[in-house]
Amino acid sequence: MTTKADIDIALTQLQGKSPQEVLTWTLEQLHPHVALASSFGAEDVVLIDMMAKIRPDACVFTLDTGRLPYETYDVLAAIRQKYPQLQIQVMFPQTDTVQQMVQDKGINLFYDSVENRKQCCYIRKVEPLNRALAGLKSWITGLRRDQTTNRADMRVIELDAERSISKINPLIDWTNDQVWEYIHQNGVPYNALHDKNYPSIGCAPCTRAIAPGEDLRAGRWWWEQSNQECGLHVNEQGELVRSKA
Ligand code: SF4
Repeated sequence: MTTKADIDIALTQLQGKSPQEVLTWTLEQLHPHVALASSFGAEDVVLIDMMAKIRPDACVFTLDTGRLPYETYDVLAAIRQKYPQLQIQVMFPQTDTVQQMVQDKGINLFYDSVENRKQCCYIRKVEPLNRALAGLKSWITGLRRDQTTNRADMRVIELDAERSISKINPLIDWTNDQVWEYIHQNGVPYNALHDKNYPSIGCAPCTRAIAPGEDLRAGRWWWEQSNQECGLHVNEQGELVRSKA
């Protein structure tokens, strides 16, 4: 599925389906050439549980930026223990480029400018993501439509135009409440930071708890006034990756 026409055909089959139906269709069509991109946030652990029940050896990858909170490593370990057949690949950034960046600009360069933050996200996340996606025909994400206004018109399947592969968003129509109901009903391991008012969890120095009433992603790069996207779902110009309409 590398053209808009392919995506439109798939969309007619997937629109209005439950996340489990979307995942069943996806894994039947594409395993092992499809993987969930997971940061082990609430949406990701829901998808992991659903995928493991459909296909225990489903593929998952995660990006270890080197700056993750301890709680994220704890949930990664718990997930490996609960779903031992799952194929989890941990991607790391290139040592040389991280070392050069830190030498040139300091360990916490991201607080100094948007440019520095984007450079750090590119080196620690986007480049490893591109390596993880190389060879895949599609990737699965935990994006939900109501997470940010940027995501309001996203669809269950889209063309990742930057990489010419499809991107599948099984939880696109779900609410935050549905995610948490599923986690509790199914005993799914989750990141302990969620219980401390961290709805969205990334790297430790770039994530804070939110206050009641704040946007769900207000705790990400809170010192910037620009969008709260990390580069994984945006292109190099900072635009959201979406279908070519
Ligand atoms: S979230 Fe922060 S620490 Fe993590 S890669 Fe981006 S700028 Fe670097």
